[in-house]
Amino acid sequence: MTLVVKIAPPQEPQVDLSRTYDAVVVGSGAAGGMAAHVLTSQGMQVLLLEAGKKINIEQELRSMEWPYDNARRGNLPPGSHALRFNEYNIRQPPYARASTYKHVYSYVGGWDGGDYVKNILVDEKDHPYTGTKYAWVRARLLGGKTNIWGRLALRLSDYDFKGKTHDGYGEDWPIAYADLEPYYDKVDLLLGISGHKENLPHLPDSLFQRPNKLTIAEVQLRNTLKGMNRVLTPYRAGVTTDGVKNKYRSKCFGRGACGRRPGGCDIHAAFDSPTGLIYPAMDTGNLTLRTNSIAHEVLVDPNTGKARGVSFVDAQNRKTYEAKAKAVILAASTLESARLLLLSQSRQYPTGIGNSSGHVGHNFCEHVMGPGATGLVKDLVGKPHTLDDGKPGGFYIPRFRNLQDKQNGFIRGYGFEGGAGHSIFPNGTDAPGFGAAFKKRVREYSGAFIGLGGFGEVLARYENYVDLDPQMKDAWGIPSLRFHYQFSDNEKKMCEDMAVTAKEMLEAAGIEIIGVDKNILTEGWSIHELGTARMGTDPKTSVLNQFQQSHDVKNLFVVDGSSHVSASCQNPTWTIMALAWRSCEHLADQFKKGEL
Ligand SMILES: Cc1cc2nc3c(=O)[nH]c(=O)nc-3n(C[C@H](O)[C@H](O)[C@H](O)COP(=O)(O)OP(=O)(O)OC[C@H]3O[C@@H](n4cnc5c(N)ncnc54)[C@H](O)[C@@H]3O)c2cc1C
Ligand code: SF4
Repeated sequence: MTLVVKIAPPQEPQVDLSRTYDAVVVGSGAAGGMAAHVLTSQGMQVLLLEAGKKINIEQELRSMEWPYDNARRGNLPPGSHALRFNEYNIRQPPYARASTYKHVYSYVGGWDGGDYVKNILVDEKDHPYTGTKYAWVRARLLGGKTNIWGRLALRLSDYDFKGKTHDGYGEDWPIAYADLEPYYDKVDLLLGISGHKENLPHLPDSLFQRPNKLTIAEVQLRNTLKGMNRVLTPYRAGVTTDGVKNKYRSKCFGRGACGRRPGGCDIHAAFDSPTGLIYPAMDTGNLTLRTNSIAHEVLVDPNTGKARGVSFVDAQNRKTYEAKAKAVILAASTLESARLLLLSQSRQYPTGIGNSSGHVGHNFCEHVMGPGATGLVKDLVGKPHTLDDGKPGGFYIPRFRNLQDKQNGFIRGYGFEGGAGHSIFPNGTDAPGFGAAFKKRVREYSGAFIGLGGFGEVLARYENYVDLDPQMKDAWGIPSLRFHYQFSDNEKKMCEDMAVTAKEMLEAAGIEIIGVDKNILTEGWSIHELGTARMGTDPKTSVLNQFQQSHDVKNLFVVDGSSHVSASCQNPTWTIMALAWRSCEHLADQFKKGEL
């Protein structure tokens, strides 16, 4: 019998703010966790500042709790509200300002099981932002969004890193796939990833562990797509299916709990930053963690112009403290890191630290979502039930547009996420009728549905940006972000194509179309925000060099998605971690040579 691993988090060393640490890392999600892991493994003494609290995550997620064991079937308690699509579109941020609810959460809180994530998502009342509409999802706690992420773990390719060379738009990244490949490999081996090799130049394979099994309908679609020169591959999940050397994590038991709720795995088979990176880093004895620590300024040595530490507010006692360090690493997530750079204004850096180019906050990009299709596989109606959802994901259809071909109307591409088959709770409950006939119909049809939805590259454009709102402040008195961000015609044309190809693929597989979605979801919906402090070779048009090191301040690094030069259409987290690993190795090397 395999036992579930239940190892308590390590003892936390005492925080000593009188000392100067080798490095201070801000934020403990995918990026900050990786920075802490790499720097401590290189022997550096690191202080990790996390704005949120450390919660008992296993208890919070209650992955194995049945809905009927929860008072409200997992829904949010009275007095709490999750923002809906229309609220994002009809109203202007700050969305929670006029709300009569005591607590307001982003739309993720409205998914089935919102009660399980209410202490993970930020309360929008405390964290306002202004400007153009944007569905900004934030998780403020140890591990950030990795506690509930969707687990799709994809690599980028030179179609992404060298996008400008390919189609003339935007900027190439200052690195190529060959530079990052060894670090993707390291991330795969350290954290575990399940998937199936496909040998695609535009979606490089990982060092995969056992893949998830495709369902009957998924295999049917995969076989059809082969004839269309498209690929359907099992969900590449950032989940260890064969196990990794890490006492805080179990291998996947295939319970599917992570897919039925807004994410999360209480045995940590799915990667999360605390068990995957931070606890092992603490075990080196080189990592000190301070939670409830909201960084609001990178401090500067007036003589050298170098970063000398970070000023932060304690979220609970609201007092301000300073953390001193020889190197500062921002990893607060794309938008929060940009906010921090902009907040860090001084005599040397009047428009924000590292912002001599004026590009901080700009070139903001992400993925556009919405269009997709749902179908019914008639042959499966009334067939015996099979265990289909005991796995951490369904399938992925990689980009097929603008690779060898050139589409009319838009550049770049999109991929589809999808799934089919039986789920623990039957789908198709909008069937007509009631009573015994209704139940019979639901039983017969459940498991015969298939759905897919697109994720497309939003072009990085200077005009899409965030800055500081001159009036609005958060609950701790820190100026809020203001959005100036909209989809362009390229995204709209791409979305039209997504709806067409989603339908055409299902039809080609002989699947009856039940619905085609053409609507574009609100900006931000993808939770893949990127690009606000991009890397580049030219300090006049970029913020960071190829090692995510500030062009202006050599001991300042920004290792999250803000450094990405373009969004690609692949989900970003695996790339965020591979890049952070590469940069932090470089940082440690420079540190040892005394070059920082
Ligand atoms: C529901 C959901 C599904 C997702 N699905 C996928 C997926 O399938 N694939 C994928 O690749 N990605 C997915 N993502 C996105 C993924 O979670 C992020 O790309 C990833 O977590 C980014 O890592 P990060 O470290 O940059 O940010 P985060 O994980 O957000 O971590 C940032 C941390 O910094 C802290 N912080 C912020 N400001 C401050 C401050 N001022 N001082 C101190 N600390 C601060 C935050 O509290 C947080 O803990 C999903 C996200 C969500 C929410
Ligand atoms: S399917 Fe695997 S990753 Fe998902 S909750 Fe179950 S054990 Fe965790």
